[in-house]
Amino acid sequence: MLESLFRPKTVAVIGASSKELSIGNRVIKNLVDFGFKGDVFPINPKADEIRGIKAYKSILECPDNIDVVHMVIPAKFVPQAMEDCGKKGVKNVIINSGGFSETGPEGEAIENDFLAKAKQYNIRVFGPNCQGVINSDPEIRAYCNFTFTKPDPGFISIVALSGGVAEVIHQAFSQMGVGTRIYASNGNACDVSIPEIIRYLGDDDGTRVIVTYVEGLRDATTFMNVATEVAAKKPILAMKAGRTMEGAKAAASHTGGLAKEDIATDLIFKKAGILSFRDEGELIQAAAAFASQPIPRGNRVGIITNTGGPAVIATDVMVAAGLTLPPLSQKTEKLLTETLFPEASVNNPVDVLATGPAAHYRSCLDAMMEDDNFDCVFVNFVTPFFVDNESIAKEIVEVSKQQKKPIVCNLMTDRRQWTEVVKILQEGGVPCYALPGEAARAMSALVRYNTIRSRRIGDVKTFSDVDTSAAMQILDAAKSAGKSSLAAEEVYAILSAYNIPVADWRMAANAKDALNAANNMGYPVVIKADAQSVVHKSDMGGVAVDLQDGTAVSAAVESMRKTIPAKDLRFLVQKFIPEGLELIMGAKAEEGLGYALMFGLGGIYVEIMKDVVFSLTPVASGEAAEMIASIKGAPLLEGVRGKKGVNTEKLIEITQRLSQLLTDLPAIQEMDLNPLMAYGDQVVVVDARINV
Ligand code: ADP
Ligand code: MG
Repeated sequence: MLESLFRPKTVAVIGASSKELSIGNRVIKNLVDFGFKGDVFPINPKADEIRGIKAYKSILECPDNIDVVHMVIPAKFVPQAMEDCGKKGVKNVIINSGGFSETGPEGEAIENDFLAKAKQYNIRVFGPNCQGVINSDPEIRAYCNFTFTKPDPGFISIVALSGGVAEVIHQAFSQMGVGTRIYASNGNACDVSIPEIIRYLGDDDGTRVIVTYVEGLRDATTFMNVATEVAAKKPILAMKAGRTMEGAKAAASHTGGLAKEDIATDLIFKKAGILSFRDEGELIQAAAAFASQPIPRGNRVGIITNTGGPAVIATDVMVAAGLTLPPLSQKTEKLLTETLFPEASVNNPVDVLATGPAAHYRSCLDAMMEDDNFDCVFVNFVTPFFVDNESIAKEIVEVSKQQKKPIVCNLMTDRRQWTEVVKILQEGGVPCYALPGEAARAMSALVRYNTIRSRRIGDVKTFSDVDTSAAMQILDAAKSAGKSSLAAEEVYAILSAYNIPVADWRMAANAKDALNAANNMGYPVVIKADAQSVVHKSDMGGVAVDLQDGTAVSAAVESMRKTIPAKDLRFLVQKFIPEGLELIMGAKAEEGLGYALMFGLGGIYVEIMKDVVFSLTPVASGEAAEMIASIKGAPLLEGVRGKKGVNTEKLIEITQRLSQLLTDLPAIQEMDLNPLMAYGDQVVVVDARINV
């Protein structure tokens, strides 16, 4: 679909200008300077030629079959120009000009106007208020963009709404000597969207890795679907910014509070299998490695160095990222002992010494490529004046070209002196970094990607022993009664309908009822206040635990009556769970995406430790297991100091049941199970809240 936009044969510029410093001139200059393989048609009612190229008075007078029209004219003229383009049969229009929806309602009206015309004529609109596209494919060389970075052909494609960030990324690759393929920055994105571009790049054989930057997602569902599909084919590296803005309104429940920042985008990245970054520098440097290196099959790195300290820094970074440094195999050790200088260190890292010549580097590289102990190879290369550094560089390139295992190189040199070394490595496609930490993070990203892609999320389980209609009736009744927050017995009934275990409970209207209930249930019990106005019960004196007899029950009820004035006050009598680990599960509706389901340490830990993780529903078994294993307090779940561990199988099941409950009952806005008590073999809910 977007073929004619990204691989145009003819480009016309409406608003072409003779003025050197105008966009209408710059676009033409860029197309020419970049060596565009097609034809350029400047359109200007007053000029005969622009930059020596014949100009046309109007698009209607141009030759036919125009793939791309740039519009560099004031907003108010765009609708008419769009109409003309329609009559001419133009396929795509890139609107560089601003003055549309980004400026307010007036501009939005113009945008709607030209968009309606474009739809009528089947024109695809890129922008408005955007930079445009670049395709560095040698067959195309289309620079339909007014900026200045001139990329070498490469394998990285960049897509972002923000022209500024897209350009920064572009420049950084250029500075690293790393080529790029397609560049697309679509500003207001009124028609051609980010997911559509990502899909195109997924199908583009020349794109090995997709880099994208987002501040938020417009159509999260489409983004997720497309990204999931494309990420299965090639790496998508993404960065989300705007993290400190409080996206959602402060909510009453813990889940709402903890999900305050826009976590949905991160969860989408995770679910789709996108490699996510929090730093643009790290993203760019990682992409350079993805552009030329294969994906490692594991996390075991071999290090070759000719200087000590930097290897230590790199090791720290990689180990912190989950990589390991296994020893050399016996075979490698024997071989290198025979080959390297006697003073060399034949371990991992291998230190070939500063005097180590190209042949020594080569033996190490070859040996590690063959050695089954390693999945990837990290090269620390300082350029001493007393060795033939160009030859070392050539050996690294040669081994890198074999594409057996990924190589990244920390190149420590004076780039102005050792220009030939830099050139050999760059042109040879070896990802080179000036600092050991940068190189180590790029390597870690390759490994992280392998982990993401090889993780097994399992199936989304559907339990048949659930009573959806019973749960739905309760929700409907609560909604019709105008409740936003459900009463305790409604919440527990819904949980029970999904076979989520809850501590035994009864509702009581007064002390006498409570006493009866407690006697029936058996001691010890807990009494809790229940009323619409009571949210955090224990803060209001609405929780009395470990009540051993009837006297204690009556006293607790009386005391709550005094301290909590609510008219609708009733009492929940609940089985006391003597000892256990308090956990939390929760959920918050995410428009168009289901729910962000939360798991973590509960009770008082929630507020203090905030040790919680999120996942988008539906949560598959593997994802549930991953959530449970990934909280910081995971060792607590395994049992510490002689304490028995938590039944994680049960937890996984409850997570999946909760996921199903949420999927079946979209009326739920927010939900909290806090705490779930894990004790012995059991996990039971002792407090829960549902908001509709
Ligand atoms: P709220 O969150 O509204 O303050 P909870 O029902 O969660 O009220 O109770 C507060 C705390 O009391 C829990 O975190 C837990 O430590 C304890 N608690 C509540 N119910 C029980 C129970 N049935 N058995 C043991 N401890 C409980
Ligand atoms: Mg609670």
